[in-house]
Amino acid sequence: MNFEVRIPDPNAGSPEFYMENGLKHCPLCHTPMETWVAFGATPKKVSCLCQCRTEARDQRDRAFKAHQEAERQKIRKASHIHDPALRRMTFEADNGACPGAIEKAKRYVAQFEENLRENIGLLFYGDVGTGKTFTAGCIVNALDDKGYNVLGTSLTRLRDDMPGEFDKDRSRNAYYDRLAGYDLVLIDDFGIERQSEYTLEQIYSLIDARYKSGKPTIITTNLTPEQLSHPQSMATRRIYDRITGMCCPMLFEGQSQRQAQHEEKMARAREMLSTAFKTFS
Ligand SMILES: [Zn+2]
Repeated sequence: MNFEVRIPDPNAGSPEFYMENGLKHCPLCHTPMETWVAFGATPKKVSCLCQCRTEARDQRDRAFKAHQEAERQKIRKASHIHDPALRRMTFEADNGACPGAIEKAKRYVAQFEENLRENIGLLFYGDVGTGKTFTAGCIVNALDDKGYNVLGTSLTRLRDDMPGEFDKDRSRNAYYDRLAGYDLVLIDDFGIERQSEYTLEQIYSLIDARYKSGKPTIITTNLTPEQLSHPQSMATRRIYDRITGMCCPMLFEGQSQRQAQHEEKMARAREMLSTAFKTFS
């Protein structure tokens, strides 16, 4: 990015001036490019910035500061919305594929103070590619922009970040405390089928930390209501009970967006090919 605003250097003896009252003046803004300063007994003429050059400099400084601030925001955001793809999921980027869900998501954001107070989380379930992650991403990004302390992550990432049982440097409790500290946590792509007892225990602790925090959690999952209501084991049941106890379920249905995109692409290809055949025949 280029912040250069060309400010002619008055010291370089720019010919772009006229004399008035013995001082160089800028022909653009008609303000002095020189000034008198007391210099011992005799006043001395020194160069200064005319009004238009001062404004150009200030404008450049503001643009540079805004750019720096945007960069800082990006770095800050990357530290708590881990996946770059998730950071791009915003209401502004919505393509209108699932208007109902986006409408609800906007309401959730608008009423977040209440959701935070009442600990109202969300459980987005339904088929793959129906816009669950996108909708959840919109919420977490919008709340982040509003200054809430959010975490957008996945179950895999949460488990990877978890300190080991015998980790001397980081304690598990500190980790759970940090997790409980967020105003909102999004756990994307929650699936725990076919996990070991040990892993399930870890996952339960994560979910329980959010449950006890009394602050909302959003979970997206491909699990079906059938799976959620018929857990495979006691360990799974404990986890599902916690989730359904704090997250309000919301079904995502309809044609998969990925499927729709695929069909559109195929239709375009068919059209292209039929044109090609016509050309050859
Ligand atoms: Zn000027």
